[in-house]
Amino acid sequence: MRRGTLSLRARYVFPVESPPIADACVTIQEGRIASVGPASERSWDIDLGNVAIVPGFVNAHTHLELDPFENECTDPGLGLVDWLKQVTMQRRSTPESALQDAAKRHVRLAVEAGTTLLADVTTAGSSWSAVASAPLRGVVFAEMLGLKRDRGLQTSHSAWQWIGSVPREAQVAGCARPGLSPHAPYSTAGWLYHKAASSRLPLTTHLAESPEELRLLESHDGPMRDFLESIGAWDEDWEPIGPRPSDYIRKGELRNADWLVAHGTYLDPEDFWQFRPEAAPDGQRVAVAYCPRTHARFGHAPHPYRTLLERGAIVCVGTDSLASTPSLSVLEEIRFLHARDQSVPGALLLAMGTLFGAWALRADTTTGSLKPGKSADLAVVDLPDRDEADPFSLLLDSDQSVSSTMFEGDFVAGPWTHA
Ligand SMILES: [Zn+2]
Repeated sequence: MRRGTLSLRARYVFPVESPPIADACVTIQEGRIASVGPASERSWDIDLGNVAIVPGFVNAHTHLELDPFENECTDPGLGLVDWLKQVTMQRRSTPESALQDAAKRHVRLAVEAGTTLLADVTTAGSSWSAVASAPLRGVVFAEMLGLKRDRGLQTSHSAWQWIGSVPREAQVAGCARPGLSPHAPYSTAGWLYHKAASSRLPLTTHLAESPEELRLLESHDGPMRDFLESIGAWDEDWEPIGPRPSDYIRKGELRNADWLVAHGTYLDPEDFWQFRPEAAPDGQRVAVAYCPRTHARFGHAPHPYRTLLERGAIVCVGTDSLASTPSLSVLEEIRFLHARDQSVPGALLLAMGTLFGAWALRADTTTGSLKPGKSADLAVVDLPDRDEADPFSLLLDSDQSVSSTMFEGDFVAGPWTHA
């Protein structure tokens, strides 16, 4: 953490919890934001020029250990079940050390893309050392998986063994925290969801991701069952927690936990009300992590993020892994959404890519917006040489990249890193 005081001047600052400020200055003291306001009212140490300072991005769903596929998986028309076959093959042929190396490379890409908080789903903690040693915050979710009891016991044992190996101080005070991820209703027995929910750890799960999942839950058949049978993962005695994906996070005691839902594309609109923070029984946090470019590549039905937001749910943004999206940049994900639907306010898109993810991961009092007292976690984005009536257009109608990332007051990527 940076000692002393540093003031940065920029063409625009986007605090997120208040409107953008032109010709602005952010002052950082002892790693925290001391003030945000017009540059005319302050002096500065570094004039960053034609850039925007935004809060560090929050990637609410990724798998750092996954590499891009080498060949046909880049086909835009590839269905989810075919893609899962490839992931399964890749996972089975990749040694643990290679997963850890990939996580190290990819967490660096995330930092360079302006990420200062991420939610990573990993096999039994494989990405932990990469995330815990990187200059960002992270929740590392160990995957629990298996419809068959022996497979479920094995993955659950590995997950708990890893959590037991994380020092208690790191769990409480470190920038990286452990969590659990029952993988998905189609791959994970109900008892694993209940076991995860009783842990009091942060939880995430892939939910309502495909029509094949809905069909499996409703009628126990279809392409997803064929796929599970083909890899030897189907269990003849399997019973879902309920016929609807939302049953997996809302039924009985499952409600008593925080759930970060990856995807949620095929959630039933009748269930959307359950995603409002006010619907949680005791302050639990439920949010949807929408991965726009991954969603688009599978040719899914339109994602209901706008309706979810209108009904009061929290929708944040993830990239998913490099096996399904071209980069680990949340900025590129929200630009993609902006290009597809210009009617969504830029302020909302930026909040989805920052503060909402921080809320979902219970880090919103520390990070996610530029506000005095919060950690100086921020991204510097180059701006185009033009004027716009709407400053969000400078940020979103642009292909200029993140030039620097700051974490806890230190530049951790970009030209000022050792300044
Ligand atoms: Zn995922």
